[in-house]
Amino acid sequence: MSSRDGDGWIECSCGNKHWGIHGAAGLLIFRQSHILLQHRAPWVHNGDTWGIPGGARDSHESTIEGAYREAIEETGIDVKLLTPVHTFCDDHGNWKYETVIARATDDLVAHEVNDESHELRWVEIEKVESLTLHPSFRNSWPELKKLLDNFIGPR
Ligand SMILES: [Zn+2]
Repeated sequence: MSSRDGDGWIECSCGNKHWGIHGAAGLLIFRQSHILLQHRAPWVHNGDTWGIPGGARDSHESTIEGAYREAIEETGIDVKLLTPVHTFCDDHGNWKYETVIARATDDLVAHEVNDESHELRWVEIEKVESLTLHPSFRNSWPELKKLLDNFIGPR
């Protein structure tokens, strides 16, 4: 196992504290008009909310490597069934959260594999906002949704 050097809090220039010394990466998986969302356990930071798998990126990792590693740990997915199509960057200055948008094949199966995630669900894109979303995911969602609309096309 490679070294994990990304864990830790950073004082961001936006005035908030964020997890991930080298920034963080998340994975937004879509298939037809659905995305894969994860219900976070009540006891984790910003728990009892819905978001995407992700976490601190290590210094030696690319954004996609970091996003894939976190998603494998949290959901048990086979990343060979994914095609990354875009990376969306939420840049805070001295910290950034990058979301890798990836298309999944029909064969992709997600399991809840660790204590941090309660439940995984394919959610219709139009219904995402009806869930209680993780605050940072909620902030990025309008832009992510626009990007997804480009990849999915008219429904
Ligand atoms: Zn910030």
